[in-house]
Amino acid sequence: DADALNVMRASIHPRATESIDDIIHLVSMLMDKEHAYLAHDGIYFSVDSFPGYGKLSGHNLEDLIAGASERVTETEGKRNPLDFALWKFKKEGEPAWPSPWGEGRPGWHIECSAMSLANLGETIDIHAGGVDLTFPHHENEIAQSEAATGKPFVRYWVHNGFVNINYEKMSKSRGNFFTVRDLAARYPYQVLRFFILQAHYRMPINFADDLLDAAVTSWKRVTTSVDHLAFVAEAAKDLPAGSKEEGDLRQALALYRQQWREAMDDDLNTADAIAAIFDLVRAANTAAASGKVAAPALLEARETLIELCGVLGLDASAGQDEAIPAEIMALVQARQDAKAAKDYAQADALRDQVLAQGYKIEDTPQGVRVLAL
Ligand SMILES: [Zn+2]
Repeated sequence: DADALNVMRASIHPRATESIDDIIHLVSMLMDKEHAYLAHDGIYFSVDSFPGYGKLSGHNLEDLIAGASERVTETEGKRNPLDFALWKFKKEGEPAWPSPWGEGRPGWHIECSAMSLANLGETIDIHAGGVDLTFPHHENEIAQSEAATGKPFVRYWVHNGFVNINYEKMSKSRGNFFTVRDLAARYPYQVLRFFILQAHYRMPINFADDLLDAAVTSWKRVTTSVDHLAFVAEAAKDLPAGSKEEGDLRQALALYRQQWREAMDDDLNTADAIAAIFDLVRAANTAAASGKVAAPALLEARETLIELCGVLGLDASAGQDEAIPAEIMALVQARQDAKAAKDYAQADALRDQVLAQGYKIEDTPQGVRVLAL
């Protein structure tokens, strides 16, 4: 499914249970630097030893402590209610590994820091995750990693919004839960990718049939325009360059390319980037319909659309390869002949016959065009 959505594959998939040595090494470093201490049931990280605690989630320590002491039953030997476990001593029936502090298992947060450190080094560019993990999980990852290395852990945090289904929060318990594969049975993968990119990644995304159906139509507008531009450019081969309409198109190309770029530079705002693509589609369709724009400018518009969609991992030229079967083209030619002979009844009958076989005939200022439906 990831391949079909054009999602690149990860080069490593580390597992916590295979990274126990890295985890123990990191906990040892934190112990040596006195960021961690031994309590009754395990090793804990001391948030008071790390001045930056709360910087990611924008919490201050006092508010967090007030909140935490209300709900947490205290572990013996814990110095601050916010201190979190790095290593938990073995309980009956739980899997356990040997460590310098006794048998046990890693805490819930340490594995991410240890695996990131082991595989990617002390500082990484981008850390992604659901917005619900910001606190405490990602906050704790920063504390553990930076306390151990003394270096910034992450340059950019990329937190994605919640997924809603039919305007409600997705949850297994409510039964409104589905996977990409379920959706792919009803919608092409490319439409799903387009749909996801129509929302800014930090915002919640809502999967609903009416919205997905609308995405099918919207995406088709892009691919149809790309197809149509190639066709119109072919017909516009002999047009002279430099018309007013051509100037308008070139201006629109520069403007919307710029708007697209600004949107992407603004925290990957793919929603606005796609809006710029639609503005470009509108301008290109206007130019094509005018019949006054020479081929090079039309082809440039087409290439720009393909390029801007391509950066988003969408193939806008995918629609163009539908070859029209020869028997359909023969019917289309017969219809043209009938029209030329002013036999409009026969022409209409042939058009309906073509339609019945799943192809649409369009009369454009540049000539006749056949589209697979
Ligand atoms: Zn994590």
